[in-house]
Amino acid sequence: MPECNDPHCPIHGTLKTRGAELEGLVVSDKAKKTVIIEREYTKFVYKYERSLRKRSRIPAHNPECIGAKTGDRVKIAESRKISKTKSFVVTGILKKSE
Ligand SMILES: [Zn+2]
Repeated sequence: MPECNDPHCPIHGTLKTRGAELEGLVVSDKAKKTVIIEREYTKFVYKYERSLRKRSRIPAHNPECIGAKTGDRVKIAESRKISKTKSFVVTGILKKSE
């Protein structure tokens, strides 16, 4: 495991998490220390009595010691704003991509 001196790391840094905890799939790891998480969920529409499949993309901070890659299933937790678009941080990998 590489040494971690990332201040935005929830384990080794000073970043506290609070609020929502979600699971999702990493669809992009192009940016440095950021991954894009995609989540699919269903929303029930009462008017039509049917479910709608929805999808959301959440940019999340990817600390060095976790190093999530595209295709991994990860756990993310809400935190304070880390940048303009990031307010989530990856807290663990549930399943590595093959
Ligand atoms: Zn760390």
